[in-house]
Amino acid sequence: MVEAAVATTDPSSVNAAAPWYADGLRFTCTQCGNCCSGAPGAVWFTPTEAEAMALAVGVSVDVFLDQYTRRLGARRSLKELKTKAGLDCVFLDRDSMPGKARCSIYKSRPSQCRTWPWWSEVLESPAAWEDTKQRTPCPGMGNGTLHSLVTITIGLSGSSPV
Ligand code: SF4
Ligand code: SF4
Repeated sequence: MVEAAVATTDPSSVNAAAPWYADGLRFTCTQCGNCCSGAPGAVWFTPTEAEAMALAVGVSVDVFLDQYTRRLGARRSLKELKTKAGLDCVFLDRDSMPGKARCSIYKSRPSQCRTWPWWSEVLESPAAWEDTKQRTPCPGMGNGTLHSLVTITIGLSGSSPV
């Protein structure tokens, strides 16, 4: 699972100088599930996001925290389940659509997931982008829809877990 950095990004600093991705970046998710699986990682969420996810699975927040999250240091992350692919996020659905791995709470997924791959550490340099693409591996990065600098910057400004 891809793990997000904790550092925050000031959107104004992103606009201060033309970044290397000023002409935009291509990205279209293929629903391979790689970024929601693999090596141990963390999916952070805010209290508001916990409420939304609890609502999505039809349980109280307390039950949600107990059944779908785990303590990681001083915080809580979504649980991981051991599968043939490695460690899957508890909400990764590999069964509903053959050949696809999809988020079962897609509309309520936390911002860490919502903003991928517009994360500060991923956008730090072309090398960081390429390394993340290969390491995840994320077949969607560098392919498909061309996302503008504005879209990327908006994602970047919300990419850090609270
Ligand atoms: S690794 Fe990339 S293509 Fe695969 S599910 Fe994640 S975002 Fe989509
Ligand atoms: S909440 Fe959904 S998008 Fe986020 S890691 Fe889990 S399965 Fe992937």
